[in-house]
Amino acid sequence: MRYADTTDPGITMTSGRNNLYSILDAPAQLPIRPLFGLKNEQLTEALAEFSAPAYRARQLAHGLYRDWAASLDDITTLPKSFREQLAQAGYSIGLPEIVETFKSIDGTERYLIATGDGQTVETVWMPEGDDGEEGDGSQAGDEEAIGHHDATICVSSQIGCAVNCQFCLTAKLGIIRNLTPGEIAGQVVAVLKRHGVQIGRDRINLVFMGMGEPFLNYDAFMDAVRLLVGEIGIAESRMTVSTSGIVPGIERFAQELVRPKLAISLNAPNDKVREEIMPITRKWDIANLVDAVRKVPLRTRERVTLEYVLLGGVNDQPTHAAEVVKLIRRAGLPAKVNLIAWNPGPGIPYEMPSPEDVSRFQQHLIDHGVPAFLRRPRGRDIYAACGQLKRTVEV
Ligand code: SF4
Repeated sequence: MRYADTTDPGITMTSGRNNLYSILDAPAQLPIRPLFGLKNEQLTEALAEFSAPAYRARQLAHGLYRDWAASLDDITTLPKSFREQLAQAGYSIGLPEIVETFKSIDGTERYLIATGDGQTVETVWMPEGDDGEEGDGSQAGDEEAIGHHDATICVSSQIGCAVNCQFCLTAKLGIIRNLTPGEIAGQVVAVLKRHGVQIGRDRINLVFMGMGEPFLNYDAFMDAVRLLVGEIGIAESRMTVSTSGIVPGIERFAQELVRPKLAISLNAPNDKVREEIMPITRKWDIANLVDAVRKVPLRTRERVTLEYVLLGGVNDQPTHAAEVVKLIRRAGLPAKVNLIAWNPGPGIPYEMPSPEDVSRFQQHLIDHGVPAFLRRPRGRDIYAACGQLKRTVEV
């Protein structure tokens, strides 16, 4: 694995490799048993071998998910002897750690976050507001000093991805492995800690749109959501999950009592174009996809987001916009469209759409009653923008 591009303009890189794995604090030779990511009942089960009273599991959960303890020693509500017993049995916090940071001139930060097996996963912090657009990259420091945040974190669900969307750099990796619930929720906590975020005071949105297809790692993804909502305290209404259209996953998602908002990565007005750019369409076509989405009970005022990456000359022409309008009308779904001008990546054979085509496409949707928003490219200079994750790893 090689990391490159640290000389790109606008990139500042910091390294934390000397503290790569806090889990190495665990005694040698014993299996590493990360606690972060375990649900309450799993914590209770884990503590059963120590004959600890039930309230110890609650204290442990508080240390993990509310205080974001970095090591067992930080959980001082647990007696020292008990912490030592846990460590001797191979337990550790196991919170993923940021090991590299790339800072964009627009304030976006992309992180490489280490998992315990020498892999890294990518997570992105996007501060809101226009200041960062014109800034010099120093805003992240300023806001840390001010201590208030209105930001979005883009979270990964797998290392690599098997879906093979033709416009996406992550697809080049193939699938390496699924992330665990602790590794998914742990990305969020690692980033919240870095920025000194206080849950309840700061406004944080989560988008599960990083590396991987969340619905191909369904159970771990939903366990992470439940941890983030129930233990860490982030409202589900502030979370959005994007899927490439894994129909059985959408059908399961429709049954969930606690769930993020749903975004579908549509990217094409018909099956023919979609098959070319998203081969998954051969398994589940747009009609299958729409049928599954209809089963998801929407909350008051909730709309399904349709993500649409505009690829120059491929799906960005007026005829395509007209087809998208028809598709949405036929589906009869309350939907909004997020347009994303494609972000270039090496070895990906597409062209950026022209600004004229982008605004004509958006205007056509709006003129025909479809809410359409153009997403600002964030962190394009550091390969943090949509479809660019894993730029830094040689594949
Ligand atoms: S766009 Fe998403 S689903 Fe498609 S290959 Fe990339 S990471 Fe996977």
